[in-house]
Amino acid sequence: MNRNAAVMDIKTDYVSVNHDAFDPLTTIEHLRHCRHRCGRQEVTFSWRRSIRPGSDRMILDLEIRTPRAGGWLPSKLTLLVDGQRHDLRYWPSSTSTYRRGNHHEIGLMFIEPAQAMLRMLCEAKTLKLKLHSAVCNEDILLPDAFCAQLQLQAQQFYNNTFDADAYTTSVAGVSAHTADTTFADNIARREARYKKLCSDRLIYGVLWVCVLGAIYLGDSWGEGVFSQRTHNLLIAAGWLGALSWLLPHLQILYIDHQKNQECPRCHQRTIKRVDYHEAVYQVRSEERIVIDRLTGGRKSRQVTVTDHEVTQTFECTACRHAWSRRHIARGL
Ligand SMILES: [Zn+2]
Repeated sequence: MNRNAAVMDIKTDYVSVNHDAFDPLTTIEHLRHCRHRCGRQEVTFSWRRSIRPGSDRMILDLEIRTPRAGGWLPSKLTLLVDGQRHDLRYWPSSTSTYRRGNHHEIGLMFIEPAQAMLRMLCEAKTLKLKLHSAVCNEDILLPDAFCAQLQLQAQQFYNNTFDADAYTTSVAGVSAHTADTTFADNIARREARYKKLCSDRLIYGVLWVCVLGAIYLGDSWGEGVFSQRTHNLLIAAGWLGALSWLLPHLQILYIDHQKNQECPRCHQRTIKRVDYHEAVYQVRSEERIVIDRLTGGRKSRQVTVTDHEVTQTFECTACRHAWSRRHIARGL
């Protein structure tokens, strides 16, 4: 989603709310996922609600990671809620991908009617889940601990999206709540500080250039206005003024360095480089001064150097966000 078009706020540490300004769409997502490893497959469920004018849909997202070449295609999810059977049809998305030897099958299931069905899942005394494969005899029976976890997340989601008075115990995990809130707060505070430092750097930089320029100009026009001593002091003070620009600049560099090690979405330091690609960007000729071995004198020589455009792709192991960075590596 385009960052400028969307406004995101983290309501609590349980859900994120996205408002798309162009398309009247509000998406609420649970920030935690339910993951289960079964043989070579890894199954991840997450809750989402998407609200448009005239439609309000409750969605259970599903991602299956498998090393198998053709992927693992589900057909439906069967829920056994207090002995009563409900089948949810699986809708594959067109964005299933193949990354680092793993096939990622991505799709979703609709929970209908949204609120009533979610409420039923939250209320269930016993809940069992079975994921059916499109190929027979390959169903995945999800363990009880997983079902309990998914139900807990459903209650947290219900609390955060439909009724803040319901299932309050599910969101009362005090220690985890505090840790996550502090983390989100710290990130928000750092962002605000970063913006302030950038504007400080600009303002002080402009001021400093003006002051230094004024000193030098005043000096050359009104010769003899200042004594030599005052003149030296002024120049020294002018150059010291550069610190007002340098200090925020160094802090900005430090924050940039921190950000480079984090996932841009969840800000955890769980990033992995998954791809590295170099392409020729330009070939240029450069003048070098070399020392002649025979005469010992300096002479200039033209050399050809190649600059490369480097593309690196990263992936976050915590939230599965993937992104790439590009820079020009100058040849030497
Ligand atoms: Zn992440």
